[in-house]
Amino acid sequence: MKDVKIIVLMGGQGAGKGTHAKNLIAQKGFKYVETGAILRGLPKDSPAAQIMARGELVPSNELFEIIENAIKASGNNDMILDGFPRNVEQAKWFVEKYTAPESPYNAQVVYLSLPESEMLKRIANRDKTGGGRADDKDPAVVQKRLAAFKSETLPAVKLLQQSKGIQFYEVDVSPESFETNFANVCKALGISDIDKTKINVNIAATSACSKQR
Ligand code: AMP
Repeated sequence: MKDVKIIVLMGGQGAGKGTHAKNLIAQKGFKYVETGAILRGLPKDSPAAQIMARGELVPSNELFEIIENAIKASGNNDMILDGFPRNVEQAKWFVEKYTAPESPYNAQVVYLSLPESEMLKRIANRDKTGGGRADDKDPAVVQKRLAAFKSETLPAVKLLQQSKGIQFYEVDVSPESFETNFANVCKALGISDIDKTKINVNIAATSACSKQR
């Protein structure tokens, strides 16, 4: 019982979720459930793909089956869940489904916290240095994503933090050094044998999924 870890990575823009996820995978071989990438891989005529193409959020009930199947497909391997839950409705579903005492899953949440001013600085920076996403270029879009994070995702973070069945860790990722932040994430997760030769700060920018953006 409780021997399959689901590590949920949460954080605002610029917190380094993707980079932390990919480095954790490089260290420990976790399976990766990356919600945005799964959705981008759906057939173009599927309802979810059509919703995304309009730039809207996929309704939570369309996502539940997709996430459930992706978690099932990870088998008995420990995994990282990125991009889900993103709002309170999704967080409630996650708690109900994966944190009950009889569930085989050990749910952990790592919340990468960063002041808003620092988020904006990092987005501007990653856009300037060419490592960013196409939607980093427009300040109005960046502000819209920030507002959605504050009004929808932060309440979900709080809900998960207060859930008894979840081990919740907040890691302050305001230090500039990725290595420092990654060491703190690993410490929170009880990973003590970091192989420094495998750490790759640019891993998110070189991955196949960010090229699709
Ligand atoms: P992302 O790569 O996380 O920015 O996600 C890309 C797109 O996928 C978003 O604009 C949404 O349309 C959709 N999406 C990703 N994750 C979620 C989620 N948890 N809930 C609803 N829609 C999502």
